[in-house]
Amino acid sequence: MTLGLVLEEIGRALPGHGFASVRAGVEMALIDAIANSIRLPLWRLFGGASNSITTDITIPIVSPNEAAKLASEYRERGFSTLKLKVGKDLNSDIEVMKAIRSVHPDCEFILDANEGYSANEAVEVLEKLAEMGVTPKLFEQPVHRDNWDGLRQVSDVAKEKYGVSVAADESCRSVDDAHRIVKGKVAHVINIKLAKSGVLGALEIINVARNAGIRLMIGGMVETRLAMGFAGHLAAGLGCFDLWSCLQVHQFQRSWRFSSLVKHLTDQSHLSESVLESLHERWLCRSIK
Ligand SMILES: [Mg+2]
Repeated sequence: MTLGLVLEEIGRALPGHGFASVRAGVEMALIDAIANSIRLPLWRLFGGASNSITTDITIPIVSPNEAAKLASEYRERGFSTLKLKVGKDLNSDIEVMKAIRSVHPDCEFILDANEGYSANEAVEVLEKLAEMGVTPKLFEQPVHRDNWDGLRQVSDVAKEKYGVSVAADESCRSVDDAHRIVKGKVAHVINIKLAKSGVLGALEIINVARNAGIRLMIGGMVETRLAMGFAGHLAAGLGCFDLWSCLQVHQFQRSWRFSSLVKHLTDQSHLSESVLESLHERWLCRSIK
């Protein structure tokens, strides 16, 4: 039986979004085992486009002081792009951005609202940022995942008025969602997460996006270093991602050498030995939610 057939069987046994994270874990384990059996690093198995990838780093929803402290630390580490979780309260989001700017004036922002704004609020944020002279690199999932009209509306205004691209994250969990985004011109970028759609599901979405000229970024949930390592290998090997987003520094310090912003993947994937640990952690995360 080929790997493809085994993965199809797994897809039937663990279908849909509800099983996506555990399906992704099983898929990762199998693909990594195959790569190791033929002594091929994962990034080469996925196409070998590159053995390195650049990441931004996330600042969670915290007070302005805490955000400034993190931004200062990340500036020292060499991060020039900060992904900022916003969407809880418009005014405090702006205060946090001002605090970050005061310690890291040259940083670029990616805003990730995690569905938190209404369409009007999202446009207001862009307006206030423009008044501050800030143009975010990207605005991720400004509105609720089912608010397709709102997402398209924000995308149109963001691009036409402020030159900002909008990314679909929670709105794109399956290949059907990807088709809907393409057809309705709902977003400019799709955020791929392996735990959101599984590995094969992610590859299907990537295919749809590439054919339609939609840009791609890759991120992760609250995931293990192993899972993020796999995503890093996939992204570097495919070479079609503009952005890689990591939540925390520790997520990319195990599977490859740490070198400032650009992560050079090692020739060994180093994933197999602890994949069961990863699966266990994933399952725990699912159960707690
Ligand atoms: Mg997101």
